[in-house]
Amino acid sequence: MSPLLAAASNTAHPSAAWLLLAALGAGGYLLHCVIWPYRACRKCDGAGRFRSPSGRAWRYCNRCAGKGAQLRTGRRIWTHLKSIDRNRR
Ligand SMILES: [Zn+2]
Repeated sequence: MSPLLAAASNTAHPSAAWLLLAALGAGGYLLHCVIWPYRACRKCDGAGRFRSPSGRAWRYCNRCAGKGAQLRTGRRIWTHLKSIDRNRR
């Protein structure tokens, strides 16, 4: 157990430690999404297009518009949070 968690569980209710852990995890995930905003499109596995059975023709993936990348959920949340911050000023 890390000193931070030990301190949290000694001073506060045990569930507070889990809350802290969840907050840290969410914060880490958000940071991860800020640095790496995209994930491979699930439909085309990041290829951005589908090949025809002949292998000569292909079409763009509809879901990612041929980019092969999709914004991650955490990045959408981050963008949303930033827009709230911008509206406040
Ligand atoms: Zn796609």
